[in-house]
Amino acid sequence: ATPTALMVGTGRGAQLGILIKGPEVLESTRRVDTVVLDKTGTVTTGRMTLQEAYAAGGTGEDRVLRLAGALEHASEHPVARAVATGAEERIGPLPAVQGFENVPGLGVRGTVEGHAVLVGRARLLADAGIALPDDLAAHAARAEREGRTAVAVAWDGAAHGVVTVADAVKETSAEAVRALRALGLTPMLLTGDNRSVAESVARAVGIDPADVIAEVLPEEKVAVVERLRAEGRVVAMVGDGVNDAAALATADLGLAMGTGTDAAIEAGDLTLVRGDLRTAADAIRLSRRTLATIK
Ligand code: ADP
Ligand code: MG
Repeated sequence: ATPTALMVGTGRGAQLGILIKGPEVLESTRRVDTVVLDKTGTVTTGRMTLQEAYAAGGTGEDRVLRLAGALEHASEHPVARAVATGAEERIGPLPAVQGFENVPGLGVRGTVEGHAVLVGRARLLADAGIALPDDLAAHAARAEREGRTAVAVAWDGAAHGVVTVADAVKETSAEAVRALRALGLTPMLLTGDNRSVAESVARAVGIDPADVIAEVLPEEKVAVVERLRAEGRVVAMVGDGVNDAAALATADLGLAMGTGTDAAIEAGDLTLVRGDLRTAADAIRLSRRTLATIK
């Protein structure tokens, strides 16, 4: 590959809104056959909003929002931002939190008004020996089927409520998936979120449900990328979160959303400056063209 052609490719990338770490990156880009897309913040906007709050018999919904909102106030997670902001809008100022702890990929815990509170996936509660009562589980399941993320709320050793949050698929995501397919690539969806929610997003953008990998813990994302590579695939990973950084570094090609975290941008080989997923396809098309000219 002549350095001049690679430099031209790099310059053209910049015009398209693609920052390339070094000209050699174009070489691995060309061979990619599988594109793993992170869900939250990559395929969806990641700007979640609070939808419903359900309380188990006897407990008021405001109380569920008060304790969950207070605890989530201490977290930076998009789900947490939605719960805290939504709770504050509905019920006003929230109480303080003691002993806050983040459990990556599962939720948060801490003490609010003397109660030991847990907010997160049903699995976070199960790990603490807390089951979700049938009525709350039914509310959660319905929300998830409809594409909303359900978060369980427990305190003092029992589940007391479920709150749901919604995220929107980016307007450009379906077109981006079509463009990737047109290049002969297989798009896949990877997320820590619930399978029903993930499949609903996949359906909206045209990803095969068989190509959805859901309920993956942050540290397991790397293992998923490694497994796909072990199957003989050449894997590009597109992500935005701190959670995605290790997987971006492990993939044959890491593409970071320019709208994402610094950790993701540092780990990626390419940055999609505008956070527009369509430029992922542009990057792959550009590298193929650039390297074809060189041959
Ligand atoms: P993603 O892979 O979609 O970026 P994460 O791995 O960060 O998601 O989180 C996976 C799931 O864990 C979320 O969909 C949510 O159900 C739960 N979760 C994580 N952090 C929190 C939190 N602070 N509050 C409630 N739920 C959380
Ligand atoms: Mg993300």
